[in-house]
Amino acid sequence: MKTAQLLNYARDQWIAGESAALSPIASAIDGSLVATTGSGGIDFAGMLDHARSVGGPALRKLTFHDRARIIKGLGLIILARKEELYELNYLTGATRKDGWIDIEGGAGTLLSFSSKGRRELHHAHLLLDGAVEPLSKTGSFVGQHIYSPMMGAAVHINAFNFPVWGMLEKLAPTLLAGMPAIVKPASSTAYLCEAAVRIMIDSKLLPDGALQLIVGGVGDLFDHLTGQDVVSFTGSATTALKLKSHAVVQRESVRFVAEQDSLNASILGPDAAPGTPEFDLFVAEVVSEMTVKAGQKCTAIRRAIAPAAFLDAIEAAIAQKLAATTVGDPRDSANRRGGRGAGAQRDDVRGQVARLVAAGARIVSGNLEASVGPEGGAFMAPILLRADDPWAASAVHDVEAFGPVSTIMPYRDLADAIALANRGMGSLALSLFTYRPDAAREFIQGAAAFHGRMLVINRDNAAESTGHGSPLPVLVHGGPGRAGGSEEMGGVRGVKHYMQRSALQSTPAMIAAISQQYMPGAPKHVLTAHPFRKRMSELAIGDTLNTASRTVSIADIEHFAAFTGDNFYAHMDEEAAKASPIFEGRVAHGYLILSFAAGLFVDPDPGPVLANTGLENLKFLTPLYPGDAIRVELTVRSKSLKSEDTGVVRWAVEIFNQKDEMVATYDLLTENTP
Ligand code: NAP
Repeated sequence: MKTAQLLNYARDQWIAGESAALSPIASAIDGSLVATTGSGGIDFAGMLDHARSVGGPALRKLTFHDRARIIKGLGLIILARKEELYELNYLTGATRKDGWIDIEGGAGTLLSFSSKGRRELHHAHLLLDGAVEPLSKTGSFVGQHIYSPMMGAAVHINAFNFPVWGMLEKLAPTLLAGMPAIVKPASSTAYLCEAAVRIMIDSKLLPDGALQLIVGGVGDLFDHLTGQDVVSFTGSATTALKLKSHAVVQRESVRFVAEQDSLNASILGPDAAPGTPEFDLFVAEVVSEMTVKAGQKCTAIRRAIAPAAFLDAIEAAIAQKLAATTVGDPRDSANRRGGRGAGAQRDDVRGQVARLVAAGARIVSGNLEASVGPEGGAFMAPILLRADDPWAASAVHDVEAFGPVSTIMPYRDLADAIALANRGMGSLALSLFTYRPDAAREFIQGAAAFHGRMLVINRDNAAESTGHGSPLPVLVHGGPGRAGGSEEMGGVRGVKHYMQRSALQSTPAMIAAISQQYMPGAPKHVLTAHPFRKRMSELAIGDTLNTASRTVSIADIEHFAAFTGDNFYAHMDEEAAKASPIFEGRVAHGYLILSFAAGLFVDPDPGPVLANTGLENLKFLTPLYPGDAIRVELTVRSKSLKSEDTGVVRWAVEIFNQKDEMVATYDLLTENTP
């Protein structure tokens, strides 16, 4: 252990808490002292002020792309120095495999958000939400929803079980949004979080004030929160309730994101009898969720719900697998599973199991009192409970034993299975093991509103499934009711938790200037040189190419029909076209218009535009008749990055006829040299 006393990082300084108010942190392996920690004497109001006055402005000067690059750098530096973190990880009782989820999973989350930020967000400071809303006859007054970074501090309060990932899955979207963070890890594993913060601070990638750390209590910090701050909490429902009821949080309408505990369920489908692949997959998943990270995952399966007729077989199969699990010192490679975060937490789990037993469940595998692992350690062997009447033993849906504990229970029919799954009153993750699409449809339609993430697993996808218990940076993590009623991650969705949505009303020109993205009706800068000859960095938003015009003849239409085989009546049959409610006669193919448009705007030689990678939002607005002419206005709408070496330009393509009526419009995406 490198640090005898953990330090706070406040106002860009490492600061020790007052020595009179330090708390010891015990190793989960043998109970020995790992470090002391405390935040006594820290100026919490000063930390908030520093975040708001130094960190926030520095981050908001950067674009989404600039911030995405920083986040990538942070992910890479954590990977480069991961062995320092793995050493500390063992002290939490976690094996190397368990630590991988926390440490490399955390770094991977940074990399994923960086990639999303570069690809899906623009080289700009504001995020647009949805399309422009026309609000006036001539189009001079329009509406556009925008997201802007909140101007306070994001206070992240994390649970003990994922000291690295828990911090980084919040930090990535926060920084990408342009908000500074104050991180407060759970005390019992704060040494691992502190080490990860040190690595990030040492890298000097972050602007001053962007990241601060509290190792200990939060003192009077909540008294100084305002409506521009965000509290993002992960932990128990009890602590969440206490914090979100804080008078200042209520008075100032402080945004409060809560990721709480939940009684996650896994359901064996009615078709998944013993001997089917789904039966075996269900058993394997329940065992894995009970034992990975010693069951200390907020998403772990606490309730395994199976058809009544299969319950004995389920009990026997799970018990057999659990018997083969070895628990003990995580540094010993013979032990496939580690222990719990600390001794006091193991005692909590034992207490919760006792409550489940008192409510009518019985232990069918494992011994609650058995001592495993080294003397003084916090290890606990898995406990499988069975509740034969899950409606009577209602505690099985309410009491979370946050360790290697799960309860099996029967259901009568699918409606009963749905009701039992939903009886948890809101969960983070649910899995259903079935090969019957009709059962999956009925189940998911009945249960979806109660669960944040759902997996339907069977023989076709199990080998590639990311697993019941794995939150992913690109999917939302969170759930209704008991789970906290919030969401995190989910790609760009997660970034928006740290931004304010506002409706903006003005001229298209004003909105384009404010948002740094072109929109129809905004001014264009007509170029003399062809834009395909420019690198992405040399192109400005609104740069436009006006092409020559081209008349489309009946011969063109017939040639195109013969060449492509598209002989649709509207192009080839004058009488039928006239008789239609839409056309006055034969019209040009939409694809012909697009092809001629490309012929008008494309610059042929190799250069900074490498490839056409797609069209989006295509609309045909006015039919084009033989003898009509088309011309194109090609305008740079926005710019983003695919990788360090490849840019993506989104062009607004507007095709007009000789009367200046818009014939078609779409977004063209090209891959460019940045
Ligand atoms: P906890 O006891 O509720 O603590 C969570 C965090 O709140 C810790 O950082 C704790 O700090 C802090 N805290 C406690 N009282 C506070 C107060 N008065 N003011 C400010 N901060 C306070 O939960 P835990 O034991 O660490 O974690 C286990 C629980 O978290 C389980 O119930 C699990 O299901 C849940 N969890 C949920 C998710 C999710 O994503 N939904 C993820 C992981 C865990 P101290 O340690 O310093 O007290």
